Amino acid sequence: MFALDFSGKVVLVTGATRGIGKAIAQSFAACGATVIGTATSQSGADSITEYLGGKGCGVVLNMLEKDSFADFAKIVEEKAGGSIDILVNNAGITRDTLFMRMKDEDWDQVIACNLTAVSKLCQLFMRGMMKKRAGRIINITSVVGEMGNAGQCNYSAAKAGLIGFSKSLAKELASRHVTVNCVAPGFIATDMTAVLSDEIKENAKKSVPLGDMGTADDIANAVLFLASDGASYITGTTLDVNGGLYM
Ligand code: NAP
Repeated sequence: MFALDFSGKVVLVTGATRGIGKAIAQSFAACGATVIGTATSQSGADSITEYLGGKGCGVVLNMLEKDSFADFAKIVEEKAGGSIDILVNNAGITRDTLFMRMKDEDWDQVIACNLTAVSKLCQLFMRGMMKKRAGRIINITSVVGEMGNAGQCNYSAAKAGLIGFSKSLAKELASRHVTVNCVAPGFIATDMTAVLSDEIKENAKKSVPLGDMGTADDIANAVLFLASDGASYITGTTLDVNGGLYM
């Protein structure tokens, strides 16, 4: 049997101010990890430090500002006192509209934030994991990257890209005992879905075999499992947490 005990481990969770990222950060902290969570603003970073209650801190990161990544990595490694053990690429954005009307900027920002920035963070933090010959990278993709969704061509392209990227990276890092996996949430109650109309939400719930939206904790549970010793023989996979929406 394995225990969800992350004592002595340092975890970096992007987009930890709210929603799924906050649930992931809180779950790791509750299981003994030191957590570094990111926010796009200093006030957001301060709120992360506050809710972690001494079990880590918040750091500012804007995934659309790629020139800041190298400095960000230095700050994280300073705070971690060395390289991190677990990287959870959770932060993500949507710029939804039908493809016919999609502006270049909507396409570029979603690909930059949800795919390119994730690859860059993997590159920056995997080096330390490779040296330690241990590590976990968990990328949050989406059911939409697997099944597609009208109005989300940019988002589904980025999230599908993340699945292919993670499989290739899993093959490159396997000999160093660094695993790379994705978690693909379905329809989860967070700020991202709160903006949808009640009608869209009700219809979405009807299409979920388990009959409801998922919670941020449902996703955190899957992430903690993939980060645990119990998942040491799992790499290159995508764990669907979608209530059966896509099988
Ligand atoms: P959310 O509630 O909208 O929270 C988004 C998080 O990302 C926040 O912490 C936000 O930080 C951060 N963020 C936004 N723009 C950023 C940027 N440019 N640079 C860095 N961080 C940025 O989202 P969520 O629903 O929890 O989603 C988390 C992940 O799950 C995303 O990758 C999303 O695509 C994926 N997902 C969600 C669902 C769902 O139904 N909710 C379904 C499938 C997949 P600030 O607070 O500082 O803005």
